[in-house]
Amino acid sequence: MRAMPDDSPVDPAGSRASDVAPPSAPGSVVVVGGGLAAGRTVAALRTHGFEGTITVVAAEHHAPYDRPPLSKELLSRPEPAWLLDELGGDLAEAHGADVHLGRPATGLTLTDDAVTIRTAAGDVTADAAVLATGAHAVLPASLRGALTLHTADDAAVLRERLRPGARLVVVGAGWIGAEVAGVASAADVEVTVVEAGAAPLSGAVGAQVGHLLRPWYAAAGVALRTGTGVRAVRPGPTGAVVELDDGGTLGADVVLAAVGARPTTSWIGDTLPRTASDALAVDGWYRVLGPDGAQPRVLAVGDVATRRSVRHGWVPGGHWDAALRGPDTAAQGLVTGFAGEPADPAPYVFSTQLGHELGMYGQPGPTDEVVLRGDPRGAFTALWCAPGTDRLTAVLAVDRPADVAAARRLLAARELPVVDRAAAADPRVRLRDAVGPASS
Ligand SMILES: Cc1cc2nc3c(=O)[nH]c(=O)nc-3n(C[C@H](O)[C@H](O)[C@H](O)COP(=O)(O)OP(=O)(O)OC[C@H]3O[C@@H](n4cnc5c(N)ncnc54)[C@H](O)[C@@H]3O)c2cc1C
Repeated sequence: MRAMPDDSPVDPAGSRASDVAPPSAPGSVVVVGGGLAAGRTVAALRTHGFEGTITVVAAEHHAPYDRPPLSKELLSRPEPAWLLDELGGDLAEAHGADVHLGRPATGLTLTDDAVTIRTAAGDVTADAAVLATGAHAVLPASLRGALTLHTADDAAVLRERLRPGARLVVVGAGWIGAEVAGVASAADVEVTVVEAGAAPLSGAVGAQVGHLLRPWYAAAGVALRTGTGVRAVRPGPTGAVVELDDGGTLGADVVLAAVGARPTTSWIGDTLPRTASDALAVDGWYRVLGPDGAQPRVLAVGDVATRRSVRHGWVPGGHWDAALRGPDTAAQGLVTGFAGEPADPAPYVFSTQLGHELGMYGQPGPTDEVVLRGDPRGAFTALWCAPGTDRLTAVLAVDRPADVAAARRLLAARELPVVDRAAAADPRVRLRDAVGPASS
């Protein structure tokens, strides 16, 4: 595999995009993947007037379903939440796609005028390919024996094991760990969350804001241990024993590893370069970037892609909104020959965890400065500014939906907006009145 550093996967300025754009729209497209991003690619191609052949090659045996309910409604929704509304109907019936479920792609070959996707049941060759193979849950060797939660099948296993009175240890207080901890505790499961970082969600929002979320755990009846990792999970007299780095142990009936996800790209082999975290670096049109520039025939959308944003730099996949919106831009590019400027949406993630609604727009940097708005013991919003400036890089709203809506509009401009920190800290001032357009 040709790996590239995550910081600078490829220089998009050197992508020579216009040199490599195909002269005309492709007549056939193969979409690899069976989730939100793949389904939205099919629907978007038709919306943009594509009348050619669309073939879908998907590993799972299920039609596309939604993943956020797998954690939020883990115990209350035994059936997958099928993605029919979001995709405008069934991919075959509504969009005339040739859909092959249970048929994982095993390789990709590129020639000057075609892309071939290999599968055990035969090859699919098309003028262009859109790769949407998403991500898979990370399971380090130290956590072998733990469950993970990424698919409907994973959810079924976890649901079956989480009986009232069972002891659940969740490793990782990130988005998914927090959501599962909350719903399990509400169903009388005895939950402990172990987090290696200093605070919950610190990987996404940093320790300063993460500390503000700490009281949510006790309030929801969840024990939280931060600052210690897990050394091993081994079988115990009853269930499992979780050995902590700090020397402590925890007994568990169920252990859930919620320590992140990684793009699913190993099937591609050496044909396309990958970043250090296995993602495919893409430009604003979602064309896969490599040393020779942007691939005109191979695009990647959803969790598998790390996109170059004019405003936010490199934006990794991993969140629902990118899988929802990115395919529209990719399809538009394929159909129009990548004419004009692609959309550049702000990264967005939502979560329902431990009784709170979270919405975050933008991407905070590790050294960005935090401005708090509202009472952190209740509804509040955190804003991040680039170090030494008043340029707003991200907004996390907790139980403040009006701030989520304002953040969406503010971070839609071409440049990062400028914030009046004192006004923004006052929750009586509307967020849009505290943040102005970028000054030159
Ligand atoms: C439990 C859970 C809760 C989440 N909650 C939230 C949330 O609250 N908010 C939020 O913003 N995001 C959330 N997410 C993330 C969000 O669901 C993802 O960003 C989104 O599903 C990405 O869609 P995707 O189509 O790119 O990838 P996936 O949904 O991962 O779909 C990829 C598909 O490709 C298939 N595939 C893999 N390899 C191959 C192959 N070789 N050949 C063919 N097919 C292949 C897979 O089987 C899968 O069907 C959550 C994710 C999980 C797992």
